Amino acid sequence: MRDLLGGKGANVAEMTRVLGARRVPAGFTITTEACVAYMRRGGTEPEGLDEQVSDALGRLEEEAGKRLGDPNDPVLVSVRSGARESMPGMLDSILNLGLNDRSVEGLARTTGNERFAWDSYRRFLQMFANVCRGVPGEAIEDAIAARKRAAGVEEDTELETADLRALVDDFKRLFSERTGEEFPQDPLEQLRQAIRAVFDSWLGDRAVEYRRINRIPDEWGTAVNVQRMVFGNKGDSSCSGVAFSRDEITGGPEPSGDFLVNAQGEDVVSGVRTPRDLAELREAMPEAHRELMEILRRLESHYRDMQDTEFTVEEGRLYMLQTRSAKRPAQAAVRFAVDAVEEGLVTRQQALLTVDAGALDALLHPTFGRDADYEVLARGVNASPGAAKGEIVFTAESAVAAAEAGRQVVLVRPFTEADDVAGFFAARGIITSEGGKASHAALVARGMGKPAVCGVGELEVDLASGEARVNGTVLHEGDLIALDGTRGVITTEDVPLVDPEMDEAFEKVLGWADEVRTLGVRTNADTPEDALRAREFGAEGIGLCRTEHMFMAADRQPKMRTMIMARTEEARRTALAELLPHQQQDFEGLFEVMAGLPVTIRLLDPPLHEFLPDVEEVAQEVERARIERTPDLEDLERMLERVHEVSETNPMLGTRGCRLGILHPEIYEMQVQAIVRAALAVRERSGAAPHLEIMIPLVAYEMELVYMRKLVERVVADEGGADLELTVGTMIELPRACFVADRIASVADFFSFGTNDLTQTALGFSRDDAERGFLGRYRDERILDRSPFETLDRPGVGWLVRLAAWTGREAKPDLKLGICGEHGGDPESIAFFQLAGLDYVSCSPYRVPIARVAAAQAAARDGE
Ligand code: ADP
Ligand code: MG
Ligand code: MG
Repeated sequence: MRDLLGGKGANVAEMTRVLGARRVPAGFTITTEACVAYMRRGGTEPEGLDEQVSDALGRLEEEAGKRLGDPNDPVLVSVRSGARESMPGMLDSILNLGLNDRSVEGLARTTGNERFAWDSYRRFLQMFANVCRGVPGEAIEDAIAARKRAAGVEEDTELETADLRALVDDFKRLFSERTGEEFPQDPLEQLRQAIRAVFDSWLGDRAVEYRRINRIPDEWGTAVNVQRMVFGNKGDSSCSGVAFSRDEITGGPEPSGDFLVNAQGEDVVSGVRTPRDLAELREAMPEAHRELMEILRRLESHYRDMQDTEFTVEEGRLYMLQTRSAKRPAQAAVRFAVDAVEEGLVTRQQALLTVDAGALDALLHPTFGRDADYEVLARGVNASPGAAKGEIVFTAESAVAAAEAGRQVVLVRPFTEADDVAGFFAARGIITSEGGKASHAALVARGMGKPAVCGVGELEVDLASGEARVNGTVLHEGDLIALDGTRGVITTEDVPLVDPEMDEAFEKVLGWADEVRTLGVRTNADTPEDALRAREFGAEGIGLCRTEHMFMAADRQPKMRTMIMARTEEARRTALAELLPHQQQDFEGLFEVMAGLPVTIRLLDPPLHEFLPDVEEVAQEVERARIERTPDLEDLERMLERVHEVSETNPMLGTRGCRLGILHPEIYEMQVQAIVRAALAVRERSGAAPHLEIMIPLVAYEMELVYMRKLVERVVADEGGADLELTVGTMIELPRACFVADRIASVADFFSFGTNDLTQTALGFSRDDAERGFLGRYRDERILDRSPFETLDRPGVGWLVRLAAWTGREAKPDLKLGICGEHGGDPESIAFFQLAGLDYVSCSPYRVPIARVAAAQAAARDGE
């Protein structure tokens, strides 16, 4: 029931059922629907909420055997947010609610622990003031610092009861100064305000930002969980912590986590105090440790997935406060999948579904080479795997600004907070001086697949002076820093980053993916190096070879220019004859790598002016040549004239693709010659040629394809390639082509959806203009929740894909269907291509493993 109760509420209820009521403090959940109603009414509680809350509270009190606000023996509650999908740290929670000037005395008497009672009270005031009434955190911190100075102590834990009492007075004063009201003594009023505050936090800036990045709909709302408090801050036999059922970094079988003795949970997750490793709990509290280990195993086998839990030990007694499927870095995901299958916890198919395909990227990211020679500057916690380097920045704002300017940066902070998230996006990697594996910085970095090293104890980040100090070295903004988040080291040396090797567990998971998936996975490649890498990653052929890149190389471009500058067919043919051997050579390299596999080659696609210099530049050169009377003036003038001739008002919709081939057939002829000659040469040398698929771009009319097909067949015959395996097909990238797909299919052997252009032409967006111009605003205004160039626009562009696939196959049942746009490597889009009945996807080499897993997941879900 997570949609209704939120993840936390649903899991707390489920956990109560599985582990028994003794292990989970009693409570109730206000549904996400109540929050939605509250938002709809512009921030007014829905009818009946008050009564239902007081009913439920009555039952909670009955179970606890104590009453909220009872001056003699009060029950306290926490008021916790919890959305459908976990948004760690983004929404608000309030602890110790129900304390006031009278009940604090009762709590002190019944627990016989005065310090604890006053510590709880001041914590409640602190959170209530900040979260419910917006009293700034700094003002609160200042008050604490002043108290500590007055008491002559360093740590909060050293404050004595008298100090805490005084602090309570400070906070109450601060509260009325800042809000103009007295701090509410009535516990029911406290509860009402806390519930509102949690609802309101759903619309808070950081939650909105987090949802935008993580594509969580605004309409979901958050649930509110009201739960009896248990106390990890009751002395040395109490603690609070987080525990993962397995190592959350490596996925290894040993549970991991952090805890703090004599603390409440907030202290552990905030990353302000550096916590102790869970393994040390075995010594500190052996019985609780044993129980916790047993519970982690039970939860794992119940949920059939790795769990991330929160717990509190109150005077030796263990309580579970939360469980959820653990977010995990790619290496842990893969390790868990393999181990869980071996342990019989899940089937292979289920195991595949526990892996976040998109996150596998991290396994393909570079690391410091194993034998790289560099001096370690300092060590910290290996919080998120992968390596990165870049210029130091100290704030999220400068990270964003630098990234926009195209610079590579590493974000260096004492610790991070929700407001820093945009900086994570912009940075290559993250380094913090405080906090452990469960700190905000670590969680967010892992979620985004960014390398991070946290808790670098020797690092001292001085934000005020804009510098960081490590063992005598002073670092400034802009200095180079490198980090390896797999090992937990940082260095100021320019360490080369090396590509990773595939590990055994990953290979195994990919092998299972191949058993399950029905979609083929090819790669987009136009160099032998890319093709080779893609084959190592498991590509089953090339789905898109862009031939234009071959003309951009330094030794080709002048020849290409001569060709374009030529005014007669004769002159063009002469120039093309010079390009032919280069083109053939390129194809040979590619074909050797792909011998025996399909290779789709797209004939020249972009508008000709892309190969010519910029108009302005040539104009300036002509000007200069005139003034200086240089001998190349005439050439330059001709060039300028030609550039003017071929430049178009709207090149994206101009003379490109097959239109170019129809205007200048000799260009396509040369390309087909080169392809056939290369295939014959490779077959001669190695005994096998690839299955050639010649692809005509930008077809709108079937007659265009008829024309091109004739040309291709003629050249193939002339070149003696009749016995090569060779088919002719088309890109489908214009809406008209989708509407008349049956006609086009009658003359095509295959379709390959060019979803980049199809998105541009279906939406009437030019990609770069859209991304530079208005997409950002569209996202802010919630017109779109993501760029249609990242994830396929299913209702619109997706509909065109379905239509073309359906009518195309109607005309030709064995028509082969693929997709070669950027979307071919996007897991969500891949799920759609599965449903649309495509035969294969094609993506960049590094996305190939991701596509294999995503395709398997799509097949598994489709099967269900
Ligand atoms: P978040 O979603 O940000 O993790 P939580 O609602 O889990 O927020 O609350 C944060 C912390 O407060 C928890 O980690 C836990 O340690 C503590 N906490 C919440 N409810 C209780 C409770 N009923 N008793 C003791 N501690 C609690
Ligand atoms: Mg929590
Ligand atoms: Mg295109």
